[in-house]
Amino acid sequence: MPENIEETDEDAAFLHGFDRILSGAWSAQLLADSLRVLADGVCEVAGFGVAALSVLRDAGHLEIVAVAGNSEAERELLGLTRPISELEKDIADSVAWGTLRFVPHEYVLGREDDMGWVPTFTPLEHEDAWHPLDMLFAPLLDEDGEVRGVLTVDLPVGGLRPGPRQQSLLRRYVDVSSRVVGALLERERAAEELRLAAAARNIVRVASGQLSLDQLIEASQPEIIDGFRAEGMWLHAFDNFGRGADAIYSTDDREVVLPPELVDAAHSAARAAWAAQRVIVISRERPAATGIDPAVFESTLRYFESINVATALLVSLGAGEECLGLLVLVRNPGSREWRRSDARWAREISQDLGRAMFNARTFERERKVLEEVRALDSYKSRLIATVSHELRTPLTGILGYLELLEDAQVGPDTRRQLNVVERNARRLEGLVVDLLTLSRVGDPARPVSPLPVDLRTLVASAVELVGLEAARRNLRIDVVAQEHVVAAGESAELDRLCSNLVSNAVKYSHDGGSVRITLGADADSVTLAVSDDGLGISEADQANLFGEFFRSTNPEALAQPGTGLGLAIVQRIVQRHRGRIEVDSVLGEGSTFTVTLPRA
Ligand code: ADP
Repeated sequence: MPENIEETDEDAAFLHGFDRILSGAWSAQLLADSLRVLADGVCEVAGFGVAALSVLRDAGHLEIVAVAGNSEAERELLGLTRPISELEKDIADSVAWGTLRFVPHEYVLGREDDMGWVPTFTPLEHEDAWHPLDMLFAPLLDEDGEVRGVLTVDLPVGGLRPGPRQQSLLRRYVDVSSRVVGALLERERAAEELRLAAAARNIVRVASGQLSLDQLIEASQPEIIDGFRAEGMWLHAFDNFGRGADAIYSTDDREVVLPPELVDAAHSAARAAWAAQRVIVISRERPAATGIDPAVFESTLRYFESINVATALLVSLGAGEECLGLLVLVRNPGSREWRRSDARWAREISQDLGRAMFNARTFERERKVLEEVRALDSYKSRLIATVSHELRTPLTGILGYLELLEDAQVGPDTRRQLNVVERNARRLEGLVVDLLTLSRVGDPARPVSPLPVDLRTLVASAVELVGLEAARRNLRIDVVAQEHVVAAGESAELDRLCSNLVSNAVKYSHDGGSVRITLGADADSVTLAVSDDGLGISEADQANLFGEFFRSTNPEALAQPGTGLGLAIVQRIVQRHRGRIEVDSVLGEGSTFTVTLPRA
């Protein structure tokens, strides 16, 4: 019987636990553990078979967080929530015993189903006998008189309604419980804040380093799930770039594909939420957010229930005015509801995740454009390769027959006409050879197999090739070469490079001008510079010089025959050899092309 408890024992027992709870030693413990100590004390010291403590959660719900004295009651009650309005009903039905509230079983008739756990026992034959449906509880109030929790007891030891002494003992527990619950809720809130703040920092750090939406999802998912204590998430971008698929990624890597009508509803909800800068909770426990169609809300809830989701937090993501996508966090039944702090921190990360999403979208678009450009480029290369191959065969036939006709007996007019045909066929042959070379040196599947190549020999033969024309136009060609200028490369390609540069220098020089070729070497590289004092190249033309088929806008240069492929071939050869090419030119004064190649 509680009446039998000695005063001294009672005080000692009363103090047991609370000093620890309220001292710093508590700090590492969880709220539930600490309240369990309190509930144990209520059972043992105040003499009850069951004691339960519930605390107020954000949603206006009381959640039972500690149950002591009876394991069956603990199993059934722990984690249960009920709206605070029901507590108000209980208070209205009750008799006040000071701060305690007693609801005799007669008052409960008709509300038995609301009662949670009801013990089974036969009441004593006594006018003060405790009845299974009797209720005794006390609201735990803060300094402002607001409800922060409830202490509920049942099964008074001895089977009678508590007398004045047991009541006063219980009231002492109510006082302490009020203070403890208040302090613990504060601490819990502070710890939660700290944790969410740290999580948000992590999420932002991880998210901002990601390039694509795929990577963003992959990298931020564990941080988000962990940080928000969610069981699954759905990160979705509006214009469906990248993977941003219509799926909820759960922690066990299951993907739940959402029905399209739900995706549409989520999109419009996200846009509205972004405009209002708020987050939306989707849960049976909450009314639908304003602006959401109740029917859609209900079907969303039903869909969630079908995939074992009890509550979801919808966070819209964006940058500036623009809403770019959404993040949906979900929790399974049995997990706690979203709190204000979750919502606040979710809003906090929405800007940063939005920015990461914006970057991912830009990256994705650039990648697509680049892919298209590459596809176009490879199409062009294939076209050039095919066309030049197809041209070569008939051209070989034409040139072969022209050679046979060289010795034929024909009149002077026919001979002249044959010469014209041959000149044009040779030009065409030059073009075909250039095209074939261009596609060969542009083929990434054919890398260079470098061998030592003496550039002095190549320059000498390039000079020899233009020798006749230079002499005819009274051009002077000087070669200034160091000993041992040996590059690492493919001889045929470097030969082509030298002759293209030297023949251009001659071609675009004034009669009587001069061309200077310099060859040098240092420890790792060799340098070939071809200078002329000829037409020069305007700055605008210099920007396009190495493009395929580019010919100068300068009419004087255009007057010379050419295809615009020479420098494109040169540049590709240089690139394939991991070299460099630079142009230094002034229109009307002359040009210098400088090529640097790895040394053998
Ligand atoms: P092509 O000589 O067949 O036109 P290239 O690719 O070799 O093609 O050169 C592209 C253009 O660059 C030429 O049309 C010419 O206008 C300009 N160019 C090249 N080399 C020189 C040079 N040494 N001096 C002036 N212009 C040059």
